[in-house]
Amino acid sequence: MPEDNTLANTRERFHIPDGVRYFDGNSLGLMPKVVQLHASNVITHEWGNGLISSWHSAEWRTLPQRAGAKLAALIGARPDEVVACDSTSVNLFKVLVSAVRLRPGRRKIVTDADAFPTDLYIVDQVARLFGLTVDAVPAKEIPSRLDDQVAAVVLTHVDYRSAEIYNMEEFTRATHDAGALIVWDLSHTAGAVPCDLDKSGADFAVGCGYKYLNGGPGAPAYLYVAARHVSACEQPLAGWFGHARPFDFAQKYAPAEGTDRFLCGTNPVIGLSVLSRALDIFEGVSIDDIRGKSLQLTQLFIDSADRQLATHGFVVASPRDPAIRGSHVSLRHTQGYAVMQELSRRKIIGDFRMPDYMRFGFAPLYNTEDEVHQLVDAIDGIMKERAWDKPEYQQRRDFT
Ligand SMILES: *Cc1c(COP(=O)(O)O)cnc(C)c1O
Repeated sequence: MPEDNTLANTRERFHIPDGVRYFDGNSLGLMPKVVQLHASNVITHEWGNGLISSWHSAEWRTLPQRAGAKLAALIGARPDEVVACDSTSVNLFKVLVSAVRLRPGRRKIVTDADAFPTDLYIVDQVARLFGLTVDAVPAKEIPSRLDDQVAAVVLTHVDYRSAEIYNMEEFTRATHDAGALIVWDLSHTAGAVPCDLDKSGADFAVGCGYKYLNGGPGAPAYLYVAARHVSACEQPLAGWFGHARPFDFAQKYAPAEGTDRFLCGTNPVIGLSVLSRALDIFEGVSIDDIRGKSLQLTQLFIDSADRQLATHGFVVASPRDPAIRGSHVSLRHTQGYAVMQELSRRKIIGDFRMPDYMRFGFAPLYNTEDEVHQLVDAIDGIMKERAWDKPEYQQRRDFT
């Protein structure tokens, strides 16, 4: 990697357990070394010693906005259009209800039938609450389903199984042409794949903090609301942290100005603080370098898989066209589940998604070309030795 590449030293900032080759940054990012001491300081000093005064002295109140501003830089938003809070599922509920309320009288929500299931569950519940119908169709058919009855479209920018990128400008334009609003899920985008919410004219977005953003297990998620909509938004989880003056303890709700109104209850301070610190790794890192490295790693993996793994029956299930490929690559194989178990025994970590997707995430901040070669050689070896063929690998566990 050239010296002037802004990713030249980012790998060193992560803790990598001994002997582990990690290709699961799209599920749970590695731990940035700096958060260890940071979390300890937050717990010992801010909580342990500062106690309630830390709401002011350590600025606990503004953590959602401060983390949000760092996130905004990665997704093409203004700093005040993003807050970090809650989970992706909860944020989707809040922004989708807001979108539906901005389009009264319309009867439908259109979404991708193959979306990450939590998104589908939330869409269904919002539809039930408002008496709407859900049109869940393959993502590519969404534009042909849009008419003046559609209130909102919900679509994930980078598909969680195939890694296909859906064109943000085109889907947004088609949605707007029908007079509807669009909600983007950026869970597999932020930190690995460029996107420009403002330039694309997007209305709302949500995404999670623990994947390529390395915010830690169960890290707070985030949401984006285009500045032009926010003052008209009525979000349904109107809690006191979204109140204009929470410490007036008024009996009547009055929404805060701006994106702050999308907050609900007390900030999860420790999690937000860790996320915010983890995001500092992106400071000074160029999004073009992130994209370049991501494509270099996924292309190397696909080329090597074609050369070494196709003969064993592995099929590349991610786009070969780099322009529409996110930062993970899925291979399909009937013994995929067993192969992943054997890889894991060898400390090579990827993950598995039903029914037969072996998913390998290539995190631009820390994965290397060497690791890609080791991964492909390991899969090749497992097939040649039939090391996947063990009875215990046929037992499916809940989490892989
Ligand atoms: C990971 C992921 C989520 C996670 O939702 P949480 O509520 O934060 O657990 C949601 N949507 C997509 C597309 C994801 O990939």
